[in-house]
Amino acid sequence: MKSKLNFNTNWEYAEAPENRDHIQLNKQYDLFINGQFVAPTKGKYFNTLNPATGKKLASIAEGTAEDVEKAVQAARHAYDKYWSKLSAKDRGKYIYRIARLIQERAREFAVIESLDGGKPIRESKAVDIPLSAAHFFYYAGWADKLDYAFPNRRSSPVGVAGQIIPWNFPLLMAAWKLAPALATGNTVVLKPAETTPLTALKLAELLQEADLPPGVVNIVTGAGATGAAIVNHPDIDKIAFTGSTEVGKLIQNSIAGTNKKVTLELGGKAANIILEDATIDQAVEGIVNGIYFNQGHVCCAGSRLFVQESIEDLVIQKLKDRMETLIVGDPLDKNTDIGAINSKSQLETIEKYIEVGKGEGAQFFQSSCSLPSTGGYWCRPTLFTQTSQSHRIVQEEIFGPVLAVQSFRTFEEVLTKANNTFYGLSAGVWTDKGSKIFKMTNKLRAGVVWANTYNKFDPTSPFGGYKESGFGREGGLHGLLPYLNLN
Ligand code: NAP
Ligand code: MG
Repeated sequence: MKSKLNFNTNWEYAEAPENRDHIQLNKQYDLFINGQFVAPTKGKYFNTLNPATGKKLASIAEGTAEDVEKAVQAARHAYDKYWSKLSAKDRGKYIYRIARLIQERAREFAVIESLDGGKPIRESKAVDIPLSAAHFFYYAGWADKLDYAFPNRRSSPVGVAGQIIPWNFPLLMAAWKLAPALATGNTVVLKPAETTPLTALKLAELLQEADLPPGVVNIVTGAGATGAAIVNHPDIDKIAFTGSTEVGKLIQNSIAGTNKKVTLELGGKAANIILEDATIDQAVEGIVNGIYFNQGHVCCAGSRLFVQESIEDLVIQKLKDRMETLIVGDPLDKNTDIGAINSKSQLETIEKYIEVGKGEGAQFFQSSCSLPSTGGYWCRPTLFTQTSQSHRIVQEEIFGPVLAVQSFRTFEEVLTKANNTFYGLSAGVWTDKGSKIFKMTNKLRAGVVWANTYNKFDPTSPFGGYKESGFGREGGLHGLLPYLNLN
């Protein structure tokens, strides 16, 4: 006997905003040089905004080449005088202390991350902040074990590292860079992204609280020119950059012919591949997690979906149904799935690509959800079906909640298509068969391949790209290497 189930699908969620009372933001933030907050030489400041409202959160110092000079001098002095002389065990203790302090202040950091960058609070709380602490814990453990990490080799720090990071995982990217650099005995000049400097500056306060010797970490805020001043400074020994392929290429040109070491973590256009024997509902969740998570502001976002032809209609239907349930809303509301787009200019880029996709003849679908009316920058989860390899929306990184779908029949076909990209940062495979996973993961030219899951990170696991997604690895034992000279 057939039964008819009548579910009420008109869900209304009560608002569940995260409390903001416990956070303290200054009106103005200076540069963090030699353990102190100091005014920028030229006295210029820029605004960091809340992308959910478009309103100003704080004024941020704009560091110039003179400020970078001061920061590099402080880092060099700290390297020569204390940090390189400290025992590895004591270095480790400082890093543990930083990790513990992040844990203690996790709620504060999570709220500030969501305010400044627009990502859902659920994610800042569950991913960004705990993973940042985990990176410091992990590398604290390595500080006095470098002889075991590289047996029969003598390791020494590189010296002063210049680190430049993007806006999509502000504190986490700072942690990815700072933790291994400090554990291996280097000192640092770090530049956060222009639109998301606040958690790095809060981290500066935390470093003061941790009593980290002055100059070991210096944080110089500013725009691209500030980053370029770090890259071009003659007394920097190593550049660690995460950001766009375009800027990565500029950096490579600038340091050509110098002795500087470099690691580049750049863009991506990951293939998420669903084979016909996959668990479909689980795969649909993985697709949603892979591209709509963090507004698609993820370098390893699964922005190209490949579905085996026999299950294409079913997967697309389920995906559309699921997209309809996603809530685009206030980043500080715990119900929110998709927060605010990080900046006006990023929203314009995404909207431009949506028009490009329509113009290329792909089938366009967007969920019918409402968008907040708080000002700010918003984009509905977007899907393009019937795309082809030659489409720009399939080849170019959009860095927003926009998915391009293609179908395939055979293994070889999908491997060829998945690898047919300038990028090679990550990929995903969904199948019931372990043997297919091995076959795929061996042939996909991507630094990370997730199987039956997506966007999972762990400090013990190396991360990095092939081809134009960059080179060098961050995370794991491999992540120590770029910060060491080995004899
Ligand atoms: P971006 O424009 O390349 O900026 C990255 C950082 O570099 C920012 O701090 C930026 O400052 C600075 N910068 C800009 N021009 C510079 C120059 N000429 N010299 C030195 N530094 C310069 O990238 P984004 O738009 O912030 O971030 C998105 C990109 O990052 C995407 O392509 C994404 O795939 C990539 N990403 C990669 C990974 C990875 O691990 N592979 C992780 C996250 C993001 P401003 O903020 O002032 O522009
Ligand atoms: Mg901001």
